[in-house]
Amino acid sequence: MPVVNELRPYAVAEGRSRGRDRPEPRPKVRGEFQRDRDRIIHSTAFRRLEYKTQVFVNHEGDLFRTRLTHSIEVAQIARSIARALGLNDDLTEAIALAHDLGHTPFGHAGQDALNECMAEHGGFEHNLQSLRIVDRLEERYGAFDGLNLMFETRAGILKHCAPAKARELGDLGARFIHDRRPSLEAQICNLADEIAYNNHDVDDGLRAGLITQEQLTGISLFARHAAEACAEFPSLAGRRLIHETVRRMIDAQVTDLLSETAARIAAHGVKTCADVEAAPPLVGFTAEMQAENRELKSFLRERLYRHYQVLRMTTKARRIICDLFAAFMSDARLLPPQSQELGHQEGMPRAIADYIAGMTDRYAIKEHRRLFAIGEI
Ligand code: MG
Repeated sequence: MPVVNELRPYAVAEGRSRGRDRPEPRPKVRGEFQRDRDRIIHSTAFRRLEYKTQVFVNHEGDLFRTRLTHSIEVAQIARSIARALGLNDDLTEAIALAHDLGHTPFGHAGQDALNECMAEHGGFEHNLQSLRIVDRLEERYGAFDGLNLMFETRAGILKHCAPAKARELGDLGARFIHDRRPSLEAQICNLADEIAYNNHDVDDGLRAGLITQEQLTGISLFARHAAEACAEFPSLAGRRLIHETVRRMIDAQVTDLLSETAARIAAHGVKTCADVEAAPPLVGFTAEMQAENRELKSFLRERLYRHYQVLRMTTKARRIICDLFAAFMSDARLLPPQSQELGHQEGMPRAIADYIAGMTDRYAIKEHRRLFAIGEI
């Protein structure tokens, strides 16, 4: 497929954007979506991703993915797909880099624990938290809270949303009430996320020794591409063989997604962004690739995410999050002054959730020690 440099008419374009909540002068040398991307990179929440768990806790090894390297891999894959389809790659990159900003420490275990702690106070959802960070919590500008991003960037960050919450969000939540699809750029980020983590979790899982190449020979996506790599380089073994296999898997998924998406766009006669919103999901894999992905995902769920060594980490993570939440709820004076102030404006439970969600893995462990270890006083 040739690379298209011109935006297709159904791409999100700056000229048709719904702009920013707080109007600002146009940037001098960048596009508006490039400015969004840059604001995300300079945010505090983005830097924190370096010390937040994807699957492995940060200190378990220096070579494992963190949320930061994961987000960069998602942005790379998403940007390549967007460019090849003639879509807005600056917007795509901005959404991809921001998609995990709202994650708690300790991956999904942390999010589930915090959601349970917040059950009676409106819940906690990392995707909504990403939006809350860019709309409200970042403190970088004199004129406004948050990053004041373009409407389409914010809409792309908001992947899912319950109807009750969607009504509170006004224009941004409207698509969840009227059952409309997000932009193609946002749809790409969703699938690029999946391509990135399925493949890097294979790589990290093998590196950690929690899964083995022998187990993966039963998984067709891996087996097929390992056989290809061996056919091309018969003497290849070890890490280099794994890397040659994983890069082929990524390439196959991206190539499959490109041709299937282009076919769906043509089949639905999509001409405008409004057509994208009304159509069924347009970015996707062929049925065959979908089946192979499902097989790989269930393998990872059984063998990696539920591995006893990973479960030990997630159990500990849950305890840390729940202990911290309970300690702050029982005495809000233990919170830093900034969080106490936010609590007076928006309710203490939400301010506590913001504080805990913002922690890196190691900060949460340290804070737990400071509050609970007797020797630390
Ligand atoms: Mg992600």
